[in-house]
Amino acid sequence: MAEADRYVELGCSCGAEWIEDRLEPDATCPWCGLKLSWNKLETSDRMGIAGPGRIDMSPDHFQQILENCSFVETRSSSRRSRYNSTIWTHLFANPQTIWEVTIALTSFKGDEQLRSITFSLRLSGLPVLCTSLMTAEQLVFLLAAIARSMEVGSDERTPLPEGILCGAPLQPLPA
Ligand SMILES: [Zn+2]
Repeated sequence: MAEADRYVELGCSCGAEWIEDRLEPDATCPWCGLKLSWNKLETSDRMGIAGPGRIDMSPDHFQQILENCSFVETRSSSRRSRYNSTIWTHLFANPQTIWEVTIALTSFKGDEQLRSITFSLRLSGLPVLCTSLMTAEQLVFLLAAIARSMEVGSDERTPLPEGILCGAPLQPLPA
């Protein structure tokens, strides 16, 4: 198998998108756990291959972005699984709202490559956003949008905007 064909982008009917290694015996959805062999996958109407693909961030680059934005690694496990999995959390509370941004990550073991990124946002415990991310641009876009929204109710610069916007002054939101 050519190296270019080895990693493929997959989509599941539950909404997840992620990268899978075709040298593995099967594909497993990171959200709903649906697991299919490559043969079964060809005729499945619940999971499909979108094409060759890779997440355009190394685990180190990803970690650097999150650390800049004051995310904390809250859980990490690599036992009993073919993949490393890590959860990063950013919490911020103002008098009106508790913001909880969680990013769940899986990566290929022994291969400096990300497999899936699941981004979710809760406001005061209420889930408001959950999506798979495939690029650094999507990650930064979402973090910047949330950073701006956080600043609306805050008099002071908070850690997430500080990290994602590199201390640059924010454009005021339209009233
Ligand atoms: Zn799924």
